[in-house]
Amino acid sequence: MRLVVRLLLVLLLGFAGVMWLAGLEGSLELRHADLWIGMPLPAALVALVVAFLVMHALLRIWSSLLAWPARRRARLTTGDRAEADLALTRVLVALAAGRTHAARIEVARARRLVGDTPQLLLLEAEAARAEGDEDAATSAFELLAALPEARFLGLRGLLRQAEARGDWDAARTIAADAQAAEPASDWLRAERSEVALRRQDWGEALELSTAEAPRAALSLAAAQQESDPMRAAELERQAFLAEPSFTPGVLAHATRLLDRGNPRRARAVLQQGWNAAPNPDIAAALLALETDRIRRVRFVDELTRGTLAHPESRLLRAQVALDAGLTGRARHELSLWRETGQADQRCYALLSEVERAEHGPDAAREREADWLREAASAPVAPGWRCGHCGAEHKEWVPLCDNCGTAGLIGWSGVSR
Ligand SMILES: [Zn+2]
Repeated sequence: MRLVVRLLLVLLLGFAGVMWLAGLEGSLELRHADLWIGMPLPAALVALVVAFLVMHALLRIWSSLLAWPARRRARLTTGDRAEADLALTRVLVALAAGRTHAARIEVARARRLVGDTPQLLLLEAEAARAEGDEDAATSAFELLAALPEARFLGLRGLLRQAEARGDWDAARTIAADAQAAEPASDWLRAERSEVALRRQDWGEALELSTAEAPRAALSLAAAQQESDPMRAAELERQAFLAEPSFTPGVLAHATRLLDRGNPRRARAVLQQGWNAAPNPDIAAALLALETDRIRRVRFVDELTRGTLAHPESRLLRAQVALDAGLTGRARHELSLWRETGQADQRCYALLSEVERAEHGPDAAREREADWLREAASAPVAPGWRCGHCGAEHKEWVPLCDNCGTAGLIGWSGVSR
């Protein structure tokens, strides 16, 4: 009904307009030199309107023709992207299923459709690695690293590759670049620490170490690499403070104090180290300060006052007593140790020595044989052993040459 009313209105207006035009008087004239065009005013107005409508239609057609290639491209891109999304899903499925070759084919298809997007480059690299094609993976990671928004992803991949092939110098450079791209990454800090350990750059490993890291061992190792004596002394002090039970740190700090003419402080440090973890190396360093055999007995009494029942205390007391000719005292200490059932082979070796000192080599032979038999089933003497693989080392070193683990060599025994 409304439509009919509108139509009637338009017709009425059109009719009124025609009537108005027909009622118009006058004419339009154009004159140029000898040219003369003249027409009635209503006809001129109608021609003007028609000309405007034709011009408008032509312009619309023209602009539509101009936009046609862009519209076609957009239509195609949308199609390509949908197809690439499908290919990407197929890549993920293939990778999850372990079909690495199929994954790479799908990645290549998607790259042809939408180019080198970060996601496709990452998948290409991972698929190439899974297939064992490290060179292709490197190329993809390098392309990824060249994209500012995905730089970290590329560097992360290159870092993992460098670590896998054991190129620790390259790994260090890549890790430093990656740190610049992503300064707050905890994962990266742990990786850089691991790389520093592998490169045996103990100073850097110490700087990057976490709370769980063996800081005393790293500090001492860094001190051993340090060319500046002041800095080395400070690192040794830090090693001692970080872990007074870490004998190599105690010895290094005490030795430095002795070298600087501070024997009282050195002795206090050794005593503190002994209290924290009695160790024969500390005893040897302390006994070097006291050469008189009789005075040593008293000296050792003082030293072991706080650790009387510790096997190392028993052994040391027996040793200095025997050296001073106090065989009864030595035998007493060793017997106490033996009664614990924890005595190691050193106890029986020293008992043999006591036997020889008391009765002479010939008379002691039979008793010695008993000690040796007992020693055969006793635990071996403690030593510097790797806490990771158990390999034995003659002296403390920062890195286990058997398994490559850093900072885990400690003083320990092995039960039989
Ligand atoms: Zn080891």
